[in-house]
Amino acid sequence: MSATSGLRLGIDLGGTKIEGTVIDAADQVCSQRRVDTPQGDYDATVAAVVDLVQALEQDVAVTGLPVGIGTPGSVDPRSGLLRNANSQCLNGRPLAVDLQSAIGRELRIANDADCLALSEALDGAGAGYASVFGVIMGTGVGGGVVIDGRLLTGCNGVAGEWGHIPLPWARAAEVRSAPRCWCGMDSCLETWLSGPAMTADHMRRGGHELSAHEIVERAEAGERLAGATLKAWLERVARALAMVINLLDPDVIVIGGGLSQIRWLYSEVPKVWAQHVFADQVDTPLCPAQHGAASGVRGAARLWPGA
Ligand SMILES: [Zn+2]
Repeated sequence: MSATSGLRLGIDLGGTKIEGTVIDAADQVCSQRRVDTPQGDYDATVAAVVDLVQALEQDVAVTGLPVGIGTPGSVDPRSGLLRNANSQCLNGRPLAVDLQSAIGRELRIANDADCLALSEALDGAGAGYASVFGVIMGTGVGGGVVIDGRLLTGCNGVAGEWGHIPLPWARAAEVRSAPRCWCGMDSCLETWLSGPAMTADHMRRGGHELSAHEIVERAEAGERLAGATLKAWLERVARALAMVINLLDPDVIVIGGGLSQIRWLYSEVPKVWAQHVFADQVDTPLCPAQHGAASGVRGAARLWPGA
């Protein structure tokens, strides 16, 4: 089999796991693998990606496949260095160049939320919509924009970087307790809306150190403090998405990442965001990612067109 068979290989380089997949010309999965991400070690991370590419190519008995990589952060279009990644050992490193030389071919690289948005826009929850805003909420927070099936990268390569703009319509108490973000700014959406942010907010209210999913479970069981933390989080998501609607007014908003499983998002956020959207009525659909955790890696593979 040759590399012109329409097979493409995608890698989703996450903070805890590296996912890999090979899809065929019809976008069906031929092979998939997952390994742990080496923590805080750039060279080991590059080596793990290279090993994963080789293992996936052995699975399908083809070499030289087109490779797409989804990463946190983005590649600076001028320097070629990765920046803005919450896996901070990647920042300031020429990740694309190093992977290209290790793998021995050109590859395409994009932000992980961009990959999710692309996957969902092409044949997921955003299929059939002209403009899609894709969100990842998990350990970090990010966003991506797809217009007419094409990823919007932007003049500076940061289109859709939703996680590092400040919480809008901040209350006085939120201004006083604005968390410092690892990026150096205060009150970034990532510091309010990520899983660790929900944990930190719960502790600020006097709660125990619980994961986001534990907080949601306790809220659903009727625990008052957990309920207050969840309600505040949903209200902040609503404000943050109202800002996106006011700026971009996408035809659909799709949420991926670990926190996308919180079902209250889809019932509660649309009740709140109308207060902040500059329109009499808000019709924007808000949907979970149809391809779930696989959406990022599918989008990475689809940075290359099929046959
Ligand atoms: Zn930030």
